[in-house]
Amino acid sequence: MRRFFVTGNWKMNNTIAEAKALMAAMTPELEAIDSVDKAVAPSYLAVPAIAELCKGTGIKVGAQNLFWEESGAYTGEVAPAMVAEVCDFVIVGHSERRQFFGETDETVNQRLKAALAAGLHVIVCVGETLEENEAGQTESVVTHQLVKGLEGITETQAADITIAYEPVWAIGTGRAATPEDANRVHKDLIRPLLRQQFGEARAALMRIQYGGSIKPDNAAELFAMSDIDGGLVGGASLKADSFVAIVKAAAMVTIVEHESKK
Ligand code: PEP
Repeated sequence: MRRFFVTGNWKMNNTIAEAKALMAAMTPELEAIDSVDKAVAPSYLAVPAIAELCKGTGIKVGAQNLFWEESGAYTGEVAPAMVAEVCDFVIVGHSERRQFFGETDETVNQRLKAALAAGLHVIVCVGETLEENEAGQTESVVTHQLVKGLEGITETQAADITIAYEPVWAIGTGRAATPEDANRVHKDLIRPLLRQQFGEARAALMRIQYGGSIKPDNAAELFAMSDIDGGLVGGASLKADSFVAIVKAAAMVTIVEHESKK
């Protein structure tokens, strides 16, 4: 049975008080959904308060980035051990980090290795821009991001990695990829690359989230696709009812798939 992984990326939103109110509003319903892995990634300052609220609920808490050095003169940065002290996971390579903060495939790889060494689960984001998409470069761009981003990672380490395919043109635009288009990238491009590097068994187990304007009204059709194993949700994770509805959509797809296999 597939187990979906749905993560809310709160980005640079919510004061600590607002973050706590949002978490408190969605915790009871999220807690009641056992069949889906649920997670939130608040901004750094809100992470400890949210981790405290999520204790014992089964909801995982993560950071939106980290730095690869262990400690030292890196003003403004947060080290892997500091993140691991409070978080279950971390997101690396989000397109906003690539676009606004100079993130490259090489630095994604450095962050990934440091995060894994600190014992964190890691969501590695990849995805093409609109120009790249329109130029027919999706395959080459995503391949490059994945091959470079995962360079040197072993099959054992891959157990702690989730891939998020987030076409940049779909993030925050209200224009999600069609389920078929997203699934094609997951199934025919990302999964085979994972297979090549980590072997058949590990690649089959690894989860590939889709991200880009997931909403309550398109979540179920996205999750129903064979190789979409969950979602990285931005805007719709900032409202308790819409994030809960998206997690419920994943739970529903799990039930439908289970029933249809009987
Ligand atoms: C994201 O933050 O990764 C994202 C996919 O945002 P949105 O759901 O708002 O498109």
